[in-house]
Amino acid sequence: MDKVDKIKCASRRTFLGELAAIPAVALASGKSFSVDANRPAEPAKVYPRAPFASDGKRFVALQIGARSFVDEGVDKCLDTLQEKGGVNVLMPTVFTYGRGLSGRQVPGQPLPDHGVQEYDQIHGGSYTKVHPEFYANSVVKDIRAPELGDFDILADVTPAAKKRGMQVYALFEEAYNPRLITNFERIAEVDIYGRVGRDTCFNNPDTRNFLTSMVEDWVKSNDLDGLMWESERQGPLNETIGAYFGKFDGTSFINCFCTHCVRKATERGINVARAREGYMALDLWVKRTYGQPRANDGAFVTYWRLLLEYPEILAWEKFWFNSQEEVYGLIYGTAKEANPKVQVGWHIMHLVTMSPFYRAEQAYSRLMHVSDFLKPCPYNNCAGPRMAQYIKNIQTTVFRDSTPDQVLELHYKMMGLEGEPNLSLLPTTGLSAEYVAAETRRAIADVQGAIPIYPGIDIDIPTGADEKRTQPADVKAAVIASFKAGAPGVVLSRKYAEMKLTNLAGASEALRERGPA
Ligand SMILES: [Zn+2]
Repeated sequence: MDKVDKIKCASRRTFLGELAAIPAVALASGKSFSVDANRPAEPAKVYPRAPFASDGKRFVALQIGARSFVDEGVDKCLDTLQEKGGVNVLMPTVFTYGRGLSGRQVPGQPLPDHGVQEYDQIHGGSYTKVHPEFYANSVVKDIRAPELGDFDILADVTPAAKKRGMQVYALFEEAYNPRLITNFERIAEVDIYGRVGRDTCFNNPDTRNFLTSMVEDWVKSNDLDGLMWESERQGPLNETIGAYFGKFDGTSFINCFCTHCVRKATERGINVARAREGYMALDLWVKRTYGQPRANDGAFVTYWRLLLEYPEILAWEKFWFNSQEEVYGLIYGTAKEANPKVQVGWHIMHLVTMSPFYRAEQAYSRLMHVSDFLKPCPYNNCAGPRMAQYIKNIQTTVFRDSTPDQVLELHYKMMGLEGEPNLSLLPTTGLSAEYVAAETRRAIADVQGAIPIYPGIDIDIPTGADEKRTQPADVKAAVIASFKAGAPGVVLSRKYAEMKLTNLAGASEALRERGPA
């Protein structure tokens, strides 16, 4: 009986017992972590997983940045979260240089019905104290965010949250500002043309040391219940063909071809020169296809012909997401070694509900081996404009032979979302609560129920002024849909500072209606 069959017929308790027998691979900080895409990613050893709901209640988490606590006061914020949102798990942002998880409302968006009624500037970095002893091996050390003085989102909030019986899961993401980080170039990715990027290279040992330094610091210096990381990016193939929901203009940074990646790929038997040549050819193909009239053989045939000519393009894409999985495993092992009780999981980028290319790579059945929980993001309100933009992008490259409406229909079929709005309505109506349920069911089925799935609930994630905006009924419906689909909890997203309290109240209404457990 192979492992999958075992999982299928085992109870969860038996499954966890059997998992303990899986051979381990080296995973400790700084060591290599062998990944074979035909096998699941595996941690060094199996660590205890907490029961899905330790106190018999649903897991109702909320993401919140340090600015909100400073503006509104720690106790006042916690009161509001408990009263309005029924929140029992705090996800404070400990590290980011991005606006999505820190600061007040994004400038230009309407200010919410709480907090200081003014836009702010953010610097970003670590919103908790940096203990230098953990960074001895890191080339990046000076990361403390300066804008909130000595306020420490872990030390100054955790005891107050615990006193109320709330759990604390530290939240961090890959959102860097290279200009503000000394030595960033030493951990940065490098594109095919030698340009230094704004993200880090997963295969650079200094990136890994930096990440494990932070994780060890946070877990050992605080009484944390959990940790969640957001790695919101994808490999060079998906990026080059514009398979994402940001604006695409036919140009890309094709990453990563730094010396560490070149060496490691060579050791794995990938022909680096051919991969480079293939990606340059793909880059050229995109530029020739994007916005151009149909060529003789059409877009899809010439795209596929390129993959046949250069299978190294796919090999490099696989190398990229396997490297991302290694880093998941590394963070998982580091946190567990520091405190085995800490529950470690991953926010999975919203794109997983839109792009079949990204969905194929982010296999929950693989990730579950280095996760205690997963947070897929079926953000149904902002999914309207985001999905419409994704369709526009991918229609200009791989699916250029079809119209945007046809491409959307095809995607609805591929992604199991039939019946959702057509392209002209999509940006203003968003997607339904059934879309939230569909992704929740899919995730639970993929992990065979072995780990909890906590879907992200979109509360006021910014959209354009004339696009879909969150309403209280949307939040209530999305939370109820998650529970009905079998989720033991939800993560209210992205950050408290952009949520209207009237919308947040939709979550507690859902809890009242469905019961606390
Ligand atoms: Zn690299």
